[in-house]
Amino acid sequence: MLTVYAPCLNHRLTPQIKDASLAMLCDSGTMNGSATFLAEAQALLGPRGVTLDGELMAPWLTDWRGRYTGRALALASPASTEELSALVRLCALHRVPIVPQGGNSGMSGGATPDASGQAILLSLRRMNAIRAVDADARQATCEAGVVLQTLHEAAGNQGLRFPLTLGGKGSATVGGLISTNAGGTQVLRHGSMRALVLGLEAVLADGSVFSALTPLKKDNRGFDLKQLLIGSEGTLGIVTAATLRLIPAVAGRSVIWAGVPSLQTARALLLHCEDIAGNALEGFEILPGDCLGTVLDYLPGARPPLAGRHEWHALIEVVADAADAELLGERAEALLAAALERGLVEDATIAASEAQAEAFWLLRESISAAERARGPAMQHDISVPIERMPDFVDTAKARIEEDWPGTEAIAYGHLGDGNVHLHVLAPPGSERAAWEAGDGKAISRQVHELVTAWGGSISAEHGIGQLKVDELARLADPVQLAMMRAVKRALDPAGLLNPGKLVTLAPPEGTA
Ligand SMILES: Cc1cc2nc3c(=O)[nH]c(=O)nc-3n(C[C@H](O)[C@H](O)[C@H](O)COP(=O)(O)OP(=O)(O)OC[C@H]3O[C@@H](n4cnc5c(N)ncnc54)[C@H](O)[C@@H]3O)c2cc1C
Repeated sequence: MLTVYAPCLNHRLTPQIKDASLAMLCDSGTMNGSATFLAEAQALLGPRGVTLDGELMAPWLTDWRGRYTGRALALASPASTEELSALVRLCALHRVPIVPQGGNSGMSGGATPDASGQAILLSLRRMNAIRAVDADARQATCEAGVVLQTLHEAAGNQGLRFPLTLGGKGSATVGGLISTNAGGTQVLRHGSMRALVLGLEAVLADGSVFSALTPLKKDNRGFDLKQLLIGSEGTLGIVTAATLRLIPAVAGRSVIWAGVPSLQTARALLLHCEDIAGNALEGFEILPGDCLGTVLDYLPGARPPLAGRHEWHALIEVVADAADAELLGERAEALLAAALERGLVEDATIAASEAQAEAFWLLRESISAAERARGPAMQHDISVPIERMPDFVDTAKARIEEDWPGTEAIAYGHLGDGNVHLHVLAPPGSERAAWEAGDGKAISRQVHELVTAWGGSISAEHGIGQLKVDELARLADPVQLAMMRAVKRALDPAGLLNPGKLVTLAPPEGTA
């Protein structure tokens, strides 16, 4: 029966594409155009480069949080910038939307296609070569699909490090990190991805290649176009490679776990650490006591760092270079002793070994997974000016829990960056989908309004994706939104790059 509908296709498609694609195309009623596109895409990328196998695609069609599941015309996996450029040209010709994807560890549904099945899911994972690690220049040039953990190891082998890390480091790719302008636990000292990208290569919506991999310390030839692409979530171009900043590996680190009575005190402790440790302060994370309990229940064999119960916990990392390494222990002890004397900590411990330091960080890095396993929740990745954060968290928690009886609001994360993850847990027994679509949605709107009123951002480091696209349109400054739309229109006039994410083009005049 299939050959009756598409007699000319049988010899052009590989067996693996043939059956699945024809079934899907018959389903979608768009057989001729899509089939031609798929046949040409396969001719460009070869059998490894395009698949329609439902089983192979399935894990990549749902986001990490399990909130969105989409469909795709095919999963395309080019092996080089040239192949990708040709594929994007073909997509432009056939008007096929493209959803770029790296490790699919994003938190905002940015890498999940919609339910129409019209877009291709574009995986960058095959483009995973580290082209060079230049120890003299302290740079690494990597393709988009390089996994963060792999980059850490490659830099480490040269006595260097890439100073950005996060809980999803085993999956997150360089392209995804750049496209979301990811943050993580070392932003305090080294900045987010934006500060670490020295050069960039990307394929634009018409298939042309933006090539600016060679870093220049000074370059005043107008706009910094690579910065436009960083944080654009695949809506302006597809990152294919980047030159990234490396720094010398640390010679030692002290990792401190401290119990503190309040978030206000945690903020005072942060200032204390900044005053005493200065530039050696690498990370300052906070989590409430209940949140630590959730992680301990989730992680088999995990133990609490401190014996007693505390309202809040701070995880602090101080590092040293070779010249200072010997003094590190003494300095960390002095820092803590002064904090105890000033009443900034109730109890504290310094990791006695590298293994214990890793165990402390594992507790922090497991929060997302532990919270996910706990039950339905609305997650808010928000920032406000650092000095206002303690009052913001207290206010938001009290208001949400009062207005939505049975919910519990918890905040954890990067206090040093003025960025916390404010999760609102559903009342026990709530049915996930119904709660998220009803009360959960209303709660998120309230949180975002509050954040905006406090001068903050509804997305500090996870991006907008599809999760917050409506909220950005609702709450962003109209001038900023108009500028974003103008850029989108200029670089992707047909709206084929990651449609429905981050910024949608305004409806044409007169049709709104
Ligand atoms: C346990 C855990 C902890 C995390 N902790 C943090 C944290 O502390 N801080 C933080 O910032 N993030 C955190 N994340 C989120 C996540 O790791 C980041 O968003 C990461 O940057 C996404 O990388 P990815 O390769 O998985 O991208 P994906 O999830 O595949 O994609 C993310 C977005 O980037 C786009 N994209 C992907 N690759 C490209 C490309 N080559 N070109 C153009 N667009 C592309 C996608 O279309 C999508 O919009 C965490 C995730 C997990 C699972």
